[in-house]
Amino acid sequence: MSRHVLVLNAGSSSLKYRLVEVDGGDAPAFGLVDRIGEPGSAIRHAGPSGETWDTVTVDDHEDALRAVLKAFDRHGPALADVGLVAIGHRVVHGGDRFAEPVVIDDSLEAAIEDLVPLAPLHNPGNLEGIRVARKVFTDLPQVAVFDTAFHQSLPARAYTYAVPRDWEKEHGVRRYGFHGTSHSYVSREAARHLDRDPAELNVIVLHLGNGASATAVQGGRSVDTSMGLTPLQGLVMGTRCGDLDPAVPAHLARTAGLDLSEIDTALNRRSGLLGLTGAGDVRRVVEMRQDGDEAADLALAVYCYRVRWYVGAYLAVLGRVDAIAFTAGVGENSALVRARSLEGLDALGISVDARRNEAEGPDARRISPDGAAVDVLVVPTNEELEIARQAVGLVVD
Ligand code: ADP
Repeated sequence: MSRHVLVLNAGSSSLKYRLVEVDGGDAPAFGLVDRIGEPGSAIRHAGPSGETWDTVTVDDHEDALRAVLKAFDRHGPALADVGLVAIGHRVVHGGDRFAEPVVIDDSLEAAIEDLVPLAPLHNPGNLEGIRVARKVFTDLPQVAVFDTAFHQSLPARAYTYAVPRDWEKEHGVRRYGFHGTSHSYVSREAARHLDRDPAELNVIVLHLGNGASATAVQGGRSVDTSMGLTPLQGLVMGTRCGDLDPAVPAHLARTAGLDLSEIDTALNRRSGLLGLTGAGDVRRVVEMRQDGDEAADLALAVYCYRVRWYVGAYLAVLGRVDAIAFTAGVGENSALVRARSLEGLDALGISVDARRNEAEGPDARRISPDGAAVDVLVVPTNEELEIARQAVGLVVD
Protein backbone atom coordinates (compact mmCIF):
# COMPACT_ATOMS: atom_id res chain seq x y z
CA MET A 1 0.00 0.00 0.00
CA SER A 2 1.33 3.47 -0.81
CA ARG A 3 2.33 5.60 2.16
CA HIS A 4 0.36 8.72 2.98
CA VAL A 5 0.90 11.53 5.47
CA LEU A 6 -1.78 14.00 6.54
CA VAL A 7 -0.05 17.38 6.73
CA LEU A 8 -1.69 19.96 8.99
CA ASN A 9 -1.00 23.68 9.00
CA ALA A 10 -2.99 25.15 11.87
CA GLY A 11 -3.20 28.92 12.14
CA SER A 12 -4.93 30.97 14.82
CA SER A 13 -8.26 30.88 12.96
CA SER A 14 -7.72 28.40 10.14
CA LEU A 15 -6.72 24.80 9.56
CA LYS A 16 -5.17 23.88 6.21
CA TYR A 17 -4.61 20.23 5.40
CA ARG A 18 -3.21 18.11 2.62
CA LEU A 19 -3.11 14.36 2.26
CA VAL A 20 0.21 13.56 0.61
CA GLU A 21 1.27 10.35 -1.09
CA VAL A 22 4.89 10.39 -0.06
CA ASP A 23 6.59 8.28 -2.71
CA GLY A 24 4.90 9.72 -5.80
CA GLY A 25 4.28 13.20 -4.37
CA ASP A 26 0.57 13.30 -5.30
CA ALA A 27 -2.02 14.98 -3.09
CA PRO A 28 -5.29 13.02 -3.32
CA ALA A 29 -7.07 15.55 -1.10
CA PHE A 30 -6.55 18.94 0.46
CA GLY A 31 -8.60 21.69 1.97
CA LEU A 32 -9.12 24.45 4.46
CA VAL A 33 -11.35 25.24 7.41
CA ASP A 34 -11.48 28.97 7.99
CA ARG A 35 -12.97 31.39 10.51
CA ILE A 36 -12.45 29.05 13.45
CA GLY A 37 -14.26 30.47 16.47
CA GLU A 38 -16.12 33.01 14.35
CA PRO A 39 -19.55 32.95 12.76
CA GLY A 40 -19.73 31.74 9.15
CA SER A 41 -17.01 29.06 9.20
CA ALA A 42 -16.70 26.90 6.12
CA ILE A 43 -14.71 23.92 4.96
CA ARG A 44 -13.41 23.62 1.41
CA HIS A 45 -12.41 20.07 0.55
CA ALA A 46 -10.87 19.02 -2.74
CA GLY A 47 -10.83 15.27 -3.24
CA PRO A 48 -11.54 12.55 -5.78
CA SER A 49 -15.01 13.90 -6.49
CA GLY A 50 -13.87 17.48 -7.08
CA GLU A 51 -14.18 20.49 -4.83
CA THR A 52 -16.90 20.86 -2.21
CA TRP A 53 -17.84 23.68 0.17
CA ASP A 54 -19.75 23.11 3.39
CA THR A 55 -20.67 25.60 6.07
CA VAL A 56 -19.83 24.25 9.50
CA THR A 57 -19.97 25.40 13.09
CA VAL A 58 -16.45 25.33 14.49
CA ASP A 59 -15.87 26.85 17.88
CA ASP A 60 -12.30 25.64 18.16
CA HIS A 61 -9.53 23.66 16.48
CA GLU A 62 -10.98 20.34 17.68
CA ASP A 63 -14.27 21.09 15.89
CA ALA A 64 -12.22 22.07 12.83
CA LEU A 65 -10.32 18.78 12.76
CA ARG A 66 -13.55 16.82 13.25
CA ALA A 67 -15.02 18.74 10.28
CA VAL A 68 -11.98 17.67 8.24
CA LEU A 69 -12.50 14.01 9.18
CA LYS A 70 -16.17 14.31 8.24
CA ALA A 71 -15.21 15.77 4.86
CA PHE A 72 -12.91 12.80 4.23
CA ASP A 73 -15.75 10.41 5.26
CA ARG A 74 -18.26 12.13 3.03
CA HIS A 75 -16.24 13.08 -0.01
CA GLY A 76 -13.25 10.75 0.17
CA PRO A 77 -10.75 9.33 0.08
CA ALA A 78 -11.43 7.17 3.17
CA LEU A 79 -8.54 7.88 5.53
CA ALA A 80 -8.79 4.38 7.03
CA ASP A 81 -8.03 2.85 3.63
CA VAL A 82 -5.22 5.02 2.26
CA GLY A 83 -2.34 3.78 4.41
CA LEU A 84 -1.83 6.77 6.70
CA VAL A 85 1.59 6.44 8.35
CA ALA A 86 2.02 9.76 10.13
CA ILE A 87 0.64 13.23 10.78
CA GLY A 88 2.99 16.08 9.84
CA HIS A 89 2.60 19.48 11.48
CA ARG A 90 3.98 22.74 10.19
CA VAL A 91 5.36 24.73 13.13
CA VAL A 92 6.57 28.24 12.40
CA HIS A 93 9.15 28.87 15.11
CA GLY A 94 11.63 26.36 16.47
CA GLY A 95 13.97 29.01 17.90
CA ASP A 96 17.56 27.80 18.14
CA ARG A 97 16.47 24.47 19.61
CA PHE A 98 15.30 22.61 16.51
CA ALA A 99 17.43 22.07 13.44
CA GLU A 100 15.58 18.87 12.48
CA PRO A 101 12.01 17.56 12.48
CA VAL A 102 10.97 16.09 15.83
CA VAL A 103 8.52 13.37 16.90
CA ILE A 104 5.86 15.03 19.02
CA ASP A 105 5.46 14.18 22.69
CA ASP A 106 4.51 16.18 25.78
CA SER A 107 7.96 17.68 26.15
CA LEU A 108 7.96 18.89 22.55
CA GLU A 109 4.58 20.54 23.10
CA ALA A 110 6.07 22.30 26.11
CA ALA A 111 9.07 23.42 24.04
CA ILE A 112 6.80 24.89 21.34
CA GLU A 113 4.87 26.67 24.08
CA ASP A 114 8.14 28.09 25.44
CA LEU A 115 8.81 29.54 22.00
CA VAL A 116 5.49 31.43 21.83
CA PRO A 117 7.11 34.77 22.79
CA LEU A 118 9.20 34.52 19.59
CA ALA A 119 6.15 33.83 17.39
CA PRO A 120 3.03 35.04 19.21
CA LEU A 121 1.00 35.15 15.99
CA HIS A 122 1.90 31.66 14.80
CA ASN A 123 3.06 29.14 17.41
CA PRO A 124 -0.18 29.18 19.50
CA GLY A 125 -2.27 28.11 16.48
CA ASN A 126 0.32 25.49 15.48
CA LEU A 127 0.23 24.15 19.04
CA GLU A 128 -3.57 23.94 19.08
CA GLY A 129 -3.41 21.89 15.87
CA ILE A 130 -0.93 19.51 17.50
CA ARG A 131 -2.98 19.13 20.66
CA VAL A 132 -6.20 18.24 18.89
CA ALA A 133 -4.49 15.94 16.38
CA ARG A 134 -2.91 14.01 19.25
CA LYS A 135 -6.39 13.59 20.75
CA VAL A 136 -7.94 12.45 17.48
CA PHE A 137 -5.14 10.34 15.92
CA THR A 138 -4.03 8.45 19.00
CA ASP A 139 -2.38 5.59 17.09
CA LEU A 140 -0.29 7.54 14.58
CA PRO A 141 3.15 9.06 15.05
CA GLN A 142 3.10 12.84 14.74
CA VAL A 143 6.01 14.97 13.63
CA ALA A 144 6.66 18.71 13.93
CA VAL A 145 8.55 20.30 11.03
CA PHE A 146 9.82 23.79 11.82
CA ASP A 147 9.95 26.67 9.34
CA THR A 148 13.13 27.85 10.99
CA ALA A 149 15.00 24.51 11.08
CA PHE A 150 16.73 24.71 7.69
CA HIS A 151 18.33 28.02 8.67
CA GLN A 152 19.94 26.70 11.86
CA SER A 153 23.07 26.15 9.75
CA LEU A 154 23.61 29.93 9.44
CA PRO A 155 27.02 30.96 10.73
CA ALA A 156 27.03 33.25 13.78
CA ARG A 157 28.23 36.18 11.65
CA ALA A 158 25.01 35.93 9.61
CA TYR A 159 22.54 35.38 12.43
CA THR A 160 23.95 37.78 15.02
CA TYR A 161 22.47 41.27 15.26
CA ALA A 162 24.85 43.93 16.55
CA VAL A 163 22.85 44.69 19.70
CA PRO A 164 23.69 44.38 23.42
CA ARG A 165 25.04 40.88 23.95
CA ASP A 166 22.55 39.75 26.57
CA TRP A 167 19.58 40.36 24.22
CA GLU A 168 20.26 37.13 22.40
CA LYS A 169 20.70 35.05 25.54
CA GLU A 170 17.90 36.65 27.54
CA HIS A 171 15.37 37.40 24.83
CA GLY A 172 16.33 35.26 21.83
CA VAL A 173 17.13 38.32 19.68
CA ARG A 174 18.89 36.97 16.57
CA ARG A 175 18.07 36.03 12.99
CA TYR A 176 16.19 32.72 12.63
CA GLY A 177 14.74 32.85 9.11
CA PHE A 178 11.53 31.23 7.87
CA HIS A 179 10.08 29.38 4.85
CA GLY A 180 12.80 26.80 5.59
CA THR A 181 10.87 23.79 4.27
CA SER A 182 10.33 25.62 0.98
CA HIS A 183 13.96 26.77 0.64
CA SER A 184 15.19 23.27 1.45
CA TYR A 185 12.81 21.60 -1.02
CA VAL A 186 13.39 24.10 -3.82
CA SER A 187 17.19 24.07 -3.53
CA ARG A 188 17.18 20.27 -3.82
CA GLU A 189 14.67 20.30 -6.69
CA ALA A 190 16.87 22.88 -8.47
CA ALA A 191 19.84 20.50 -8.19
CA ARG A 192 17.69 17.62 -9.43
CA HIS A 193 16.49 19.66 -12.40
CA LEU A 194 20.08 20.52 -13.31
CA ASP A 195 21.18 16.92 -12.73
CA ARG A 196 23.70 18.12 -10.14
CA ASP A 197 24.59 16.93 -6.67
CA PRO A 198 23.01 19.36 -4.14
CA ALA A 199 26.22 19.12 -2.10
CA GLU A 200 28.12 20.80 -4.95
CA LEU A 201 25.59 23.44 -5.87
CA ASN A 202 25.27 27.04 -4.70
CA VAL A 203 21.73 28.35 -5.16
CA ILE A 204 19.91 31.57 -4.35
CA VAL A 205 16.29 30.65 -3.64
CA LEU A 206 13.74 33.45 -4.03
CA HIS A 207 10.49 32.44 -2.31
CA LEU A 208 8.06 35.15 -3.42
CA GLY A 209 4.53 34.55 -2.10
CA ASN A 210 2.38 36.67 0.19
CA GLY A 211 5.33 36.37 2.53
CA ALA A 212 8.66 36.54 0.71
CA SER A 213 12.21 35.58 1.55
CA ALA A 214 15.56 34.96 -0.12
CA THR A 215 18.07 32.33 0.98
CA ALA A 216 21.69 31.67 0.06
CA VAL A 217 22.14 27.89 -0.07
CA GLN A 218 25.70 26.58 -0.20
CA GLY A 219 26.08 22.88 -0.91
CA GLY A 220 22.59 22.14 0.42
CA ARG A 221 22.94 24.25 3.59
CA SER A 222 21.36 27.61 4.30
CA VAL A 223 24.13 30.14 4.97
CA ASP A 224 22.07 33.34 4.96
CA THR A 225 18.43 34.29 4.69
CA SER A 226 16.49 37.52 4.51
CA MET A 227 13.87 37.04 7.25
CA GLY A 228 15.02 37.62 10.80
CA LEU A 229 13.77 37.22 14.36
CA THR A 230 10.32 37.38 12.77
CA PRO A 231 9.04 37.15 9.19
CA LEU A 232 8.95 40.97 8.97
CA GLN A 233 12.56 41.47 7.84
CA GLY A 234 13.93 41.33 4.30
CA LEU A 235 12.03 41.51 1.03
CA VAL A 236 8.97 43.66 0.37
CA MET A 237 5.86 41.48 0.89
CA GLY A 238 2.12 41.65 0.33
CA THR A 239 1.45 43.48 3.59
CA ARG A 240 4.86 43.49 5.37
CA CYS A 241 7.47 46.18 4.94
CA GLY A 242 10.61 44.05 4.93
CA ASP A 243 13.89 45.89 5.67
CA LEU A 244 13.46 49.21 7.41
CA ASP A 245 15.59 51.59 9.43
CA PRO A 246 15.15 50.24 13.00
CA ALA A 247 14.69 53.83 14.17
CA VAL A 248 11.35 54.16 12.34
CA PRO A 249 9.15 52.78 15.19
CA ALA A 250 10.65 55.18 17.76
CA HIS A 251 10.33 58.06 15.30
CA LEU A 252 6.64 57.26 14.72
CA ALA A 253 5.99 56.88 18.43
CA ARG A 254 7.37 60.40 18.92
CA THR A 255 5.90 62.13 15.89
CA ALA A 256 2.60 60.32 15.25
CA GLY A 257 1.85 59.30 18.83
CA LEU A 258 1.39 55.66 17.82
CA ASP A 259 2.00 52.98 20.41
CA LEU A 260 4.24 49.99 19.73
CA SER A 261 1.47 47.54 18.99
CA GLU A 262 -0.13 49.94 16.48
CA ILE A 263 3.21 50.33 14.74
CA ASP A 264 3.81 46.57 14.80
CA THR A 265 0.39 45.94 13.26
CA ALA A 266 0.93 48.60 10.60
CA LEU A 267 4.34 47.19 9.59
CA ASN A 268 2.98 43.62 9.44
CA ARG A 269 -0.51 44.15 8.03
CA ARG A 270 -0.70 47.54 6.31
CA SER A 271 2.69 47.92 4.71
CA GLY A 272 4.47 46.26 1.78
CA LEU A 273 2.57 46.39 -1.52
CA LEU A 274 -0.67 47.05 0.35
CA GLY A 275 0.79 50.09 2.06
CA LEU A 276 2.20 51.51 -1.17
CA THR A 277 -0.79 50.84 -3.46
CA GLY A 278 -3.87 49.81 -1.48
CA ALA A 279 -3.58 46.25 -2.88
CA GLY A 280 -1.45 43.49 -1.36
CA ASP A 281 -1.89 41.03 -4.20
CA VAL A 282 0.82 41.17 -6.87
CA ARG A 283 -1.64 40.29 -9.65
CA ARG A 284 -3.77 43.30 -8.74
CA VAL A 285 -0.75 45.61 -8.47
CA VAL A 286 0.39 44.51 -11.94
CA GLU A 287 -3.09 45.29 -13.32
CA MET A 288 -3.10 48.69 -11.64
CA ARG A 289 0.28 49.44 -13.18
CA GLN A 290 -1.01 48.44 -16.61
CA ASP A 291 -3.84 50.93 -16.11
CA GLY A 292 -1.26 53.67 -15.58
CA ASP A 293 -1.28 53.80 -11.75
CA GLU A 294 1.96 55.51 -10.70
CA ALA A 295 1.90 54.19 -7.13
CA ALA A 296 1.66 50.62 -8.48
CA ASP A 297 4.56 51.31 -10.86
CA LEU A 298 6.72 52.54 -7.98
CA ALA A 299 5.65 49.65 -5.70
CA LEU A 300 6.71 47.05 -8.27
CA ALA A 301 9.98 48.89 -8.82
CA VAL A 302 10.66 48.86 -5.06
CA TYR A 303 9.66 45.18 -4.80
CA CYS A 304 11.91 44.04 -7.65
CA TYR A 305 14.81 46.28 -6.63
CA ARG A 306 14.78 44.72 -3.15
CA VAL A 307 14.89 41.23 -4.69
CA ARG A 308 17.84 42.28 -6.87
CA TRP A 309 19.56 43.82 -3.85
CA TYR A 310 19.44 40.47 -2.05
CA VAL A 311 20.63 38.61 -5.15
CA GLY A 312 23.66 40.92 -5.18
CA ALA A 313 24.24 40.40 -1.46
CA TYR A 314 24.04 36.63 -1.75
CA LEU A 315 26.37 36.59 -4.76
CA ALA A 316 28.91 38.12 -2.42
CA VAL A 317 28.00 35.74 0.43
CA LEU A 318 28.34 32.64 -1.75
CA GLY A 319 31.25 33.79 -3.93
CA ARG A 320 30.03 31.52 -6.75
CA VAL A 321 26.39 31.06 -7.69
CA ASP A 322 25.30 28.18 -9.92
CA ALA A 323 21.57 28.81 -9.94
CA ILE A 324 18.86 31.24 -8.94
CA ALA A 325 15.46 29.62 -8.30
CA PHE A 326 12.17 31.52 -8.21
CA THR A 327 9.32 29.91 -6.30
CA ALA A 328 5.89 30.46 -4.61
CA GLY A 329 2.85 32.33 -5.98
CA VAL A 330 4.67 35.36 -7.39
CA GLY A 331 7.97 33.64 -8.20
CA GLU A 332 6.25 30.83 -10.09
CA ASN A 333 3.73 32.98 -11.94
CA SER A 334 4.94 36.50 -12.55
CA ALA A 335 7.25 36.75 -15.57
CA LEU A 336 7.29 40.52 -15.02
CA VAL A 337 8.63 40.27 -11.46
CA ARG A 338 11.23 37.68 -12.47
CA ALA A 339 12.50 39.74 -15.40
CA ARG A 340 12.59 43.04 -13.52
CA SER A 341 14.24 41.52 -10.45
CA LEU A 342 17.21 40.27 -12.46
CA GLU A 343 17.41 43.24 -14.85
CA GLY A 344 20.87 44.63 -15.51
CA LEU A 345 22.83 41.68 -14.12
CA ASP A 346 24.11 40.36 -17.49
CA ALA A 347 27.69 41.28 -16.67
CA LEU A 348 27.43 38.89 -13.70
CA GLY A 349 26.29 36.03 -15.94
CA ILE A 350 22.66 36.41 -14.84
CA SER A 351 20.00 36.92 -17.47
CA VAL A 352 16.51 35.84 -18.38
CA ASP A 353 15.42 34.66 -21.83
CA ALA A 354 12.18 36.55 -22.59
CA ARG A 355 10.44 33.69 -24.44
CA ARG A 356 11.32 31.06 -21.81
CA ASN A 357 10.32 33.42 -19.02
CA GLU A 358 6.86 33.99 -20.52
CA ALA A 359 6.20 30.27 -21.08
CA GLU A 360 3.98 28.83 -18.34
CA GLY A 361 3.82 25.35 -16.90
CA PRO A 362 3.49 23.36 -13.70
CA ASP A 363 6.99 21.87 -13.76
CA ALA A 364 10.46 23.13 -12.91
CA ARG A 365 11.97 24.94 -15.88
CA ARG A 366 15.01 26.97 -16.89
CA ILE A 367 14.40 30.53 -18.01
CA SER A 368 17.99 31.64 -18.60
CA PRO A 369 19.52 31.48 -22.09
CA ASP A 370 21.61 28.46 -23.11
CA GLY A 371 25.20 28.80 -22.00
CA ALA A 372 24.54 31.44 -19.31
CA ALA A 373 26.95 31.23 -16.37
CA VAL A 374 24.09 31.12 -13.87
CA ASP A 375 21.03 28.93 -14.44
CA VAL A 376 17.87 30.86 -13.64
CA LEU A 377 15.03 28.48 -12.80
CA VAL A 378 11.36 28.47 -11.88
CA VAL A 379 10.85 25.67 -9.35
CA PRO A 380 7.33 25.13 -7.97
CA THR A 381 7.51 24.71 -4.22
CA ASN A 382 5.72 21.95 -2.32
CA GLU A 383 6.03 22.55 1.41
CA GLU A 384 3.51 19.85 2.31
CA LEU A 385 5.41 17.20 0.36
CA GLU A 386 8.62 18.25 2.09
CA ILE A 387 6.90 18.05 5.51
CA ALA A 388 5.47 14.62 4.62
CA ARG A 389 8.87 13.35 3.47
CA GLN A 390 10.60 14.62 6.59
CA ALA A 391 7.91 13.05 8.79
CA VAL A 392 8.21 9.69 7.06
CA GLY A 393 11.99 9.89 7.13
CA LEU A 394 11.83 10.23 10.89
CA VAL A 395 9.19 7.70 11.88
CA VAL A 396 9.03 5.10 9.13
CA ASP A 397 12.20 4.75 7.02
P1 ADP B 1 1.37 32.29 0.54
O1 ADP B 1 2.60 33.01 1.00
O2 ADP B 1 0.11 32.75 1.21
O3 ADP B 1 1.51 30.78 0.46
P2 ADP B 1 1.41 32.19 -2.36
O4 ADP B 1 2.71 31.51 -2.49
O5 ADP B 1 0.18 31.45 -2.76
O6 ADP B 1 1.20 32.82 -0.93
O7 ADP B 1 1.49 33.54 -3.23
C1 ADP B 1 0.45 34.48 -3.26
C2 ADP B 1 0.86 35.62 -4.17
O8 ADP B 1 1.09 35.10 -5.48
C3 ADP B 1 -0.18 36.72 -4.32
O9 ADP B 1 0.44 37.98 -4.16
C4 ADP B 1 -0.64 36.58 -5.76
O10 ADP B 1 -0.94 37.81 -6.33
C5 ADP B 1 0.60 36.03 -6.42
N1 ADP B 1 0.27 35.42 -7.70
C6 ADP B 1 -0.42 34.29 -7.94
N2 ADP B 1 -0.58 34.11 -9.28
C7 ADP B 1 0.03 35.16 -9.89
C8 ADP B 1 0.23 35.58 -11.23
N3 ADP B 1 -0.23 34.86 -12.25
N4 ADP B 1 0.92 36.73 -11.46
C9 ADP B 1 1.38 37.46 -10.43
N5 ADP B 1 1.25 37.12 -9.15
C10 ADP B 1 0.58 35.99 -8.87
